[in-house]
Amino acid sequence: MENCIFCKIGTGEIPSEYVFESENTFVIKDLHPKAKIHLLVIPKKHYDKFDALDDKELVSELFSTVQAVTRKLGIEDNYRLVINNGKGAGQEVFHLHIHVLSNK
Ligand code: 5GP
Ligand code: ZN
Repeated sequence: MENCIFCKIGTGEIPSEYVFESENTFVIKDLHPKAKIHLLVIPKKHYDKFDALDDKELVSELFSTVQAVTRKLGIEDNYRLVINNGKGAGQEVFHLHIHVLSNK
């Protein structure tokens, strides 16, 4: 999707350090962290928001990525997940992402 920041990070057009990567997902640090650890788990394919996600295998892979990256960082007992779905919920970047927040 043109002019989508997370698509550009996903293709490498905008360089960004991946904390974790799987076949169809990647994880980056949030630019403006709202917790000691604030990650974004992002599908490589563009979906505007969670409500548009119709691929059950990708749903599963996204949540497997959450488990893998939180275990890798040793925060598996100390995190919460947030998905802002739609403008009304405060979504700012319209490429689906899961916030992982931890104050461990
Ligand atoms: P939303 O409100 O859409 O759920 O959250 C978007 C998040 O993306 C915000 O927490 C914001 O700080 C983060 N963000 C916006 N642009 C960039 C960027 O270019 N790089 C990274 N790493 N995070 C970004
Ligand atoms: Zn996108």
